[in-house]
Amino acid sequence: MAGEKNVLHGKYELGRLLGCGTFAKVYHARNVVSGKSVAMKVVGKDKVIKVGMTEQVKREISVMKMVKHPNIVELHEVMASKSKIYFAMELVRGGELFSKISKGRMKEDVARHYFQQLISAVDFCHSRGVYHRDLKPENLLLDDDGNLKVTDFGLSAFNDHLRQDGLLHTTCGTPAYVAPDVIGKKGYDGAKADVWSCGVILFVLLAGFLPFQDDNLVAMYRKIYKGDFKCPPWFSPESRRLITKLLDPNPSTRITAAKVMESSWFKKSVPKTMRLK
Ligand code: ADP
Ligand code: MG
Repeated sequence: MAGEKNVLHGKYELGRLLGCGTFAKVYHARNVVSGKSVAMKVVGKDKVIKVGMTEQVKREISVMKMVKHPNIVELHEVMASKSKIYFAMELVRGGELFSKISKGRMKEDVARHYFQQLISAVDFCHSRGVYHRDLKPENLLLDDDGNLKVTDFGLSAFNDHLRQDGLLHTTCGTPAYVAPDVIGKKGYDGAKADVWSCGVILFVLLAGFLPFQDDNLVAMYRKIYKGDFKCPPWFSPESRRLITKLLDPNPSTRITAAKVMESSWFKKSVPKTMRLK
């Protein structure tokens, strides 16, 4: 049982570790007043200051308050102690989408189910001027009913921090999921960069491996720049067409999240009896 000192603000009892990311540790916690369980993201202030991320953490808080959507993890409240910041969030119990992929590729209908929910969340963010910038399977969680929830807005951007050219200039994200326009130094459209990452995610779900892979980072970036990938033979013609539009190395011709929702592959309904687990 958690001891006295493990009760935060007299309200949350901290439990087991649920996951670790680049900046944070996330614990199971129980609201001792309501009895409800939450996920508590704990970020060390010293770490945040050391890497100059203070503004970014403030942004994570304000962005998460703005984006209320069934496929986005909900932020309940933020607390702070002398040394730490605590995010009390909706608890998502089914683990990361990442762990499903590590077991191998998915059937097309199952991949479509997760992709539909991912795009629905991403389109919602984009319509509100929010760009996630770190979309990858580790930041996509699954609830008990097999619904996908986007989490970790720790690298997100908001319309207000575009420079005069209307573009973002901070290089961030995770190499294998990063768009060529983000690697380049000219500035990029945050929405188009997210769409690229969604393309990498869809490819991984259907293939069981990454579209751009190389032990050498420079060689991997070269493949990303050229949009040099090959769909495996089991991809359907419709899924190939959509992936080619998502992984278009030219951001100005790359498809938008709103247009993805109109594509025939996306719109196909998912069988109700489908097994997700
Ligand atoms: P970081 O910003 O350090 O990457 P994340 O917000 O991605 O931190 O959280 C790290 C990990 O904790 C996630 O990859 C996931 O496994 C777990 N996690 C995050 N949020 C939740 C949540 N709401 N419910 C359950 N597990 C979570
Ligand atoms: Mg993360």
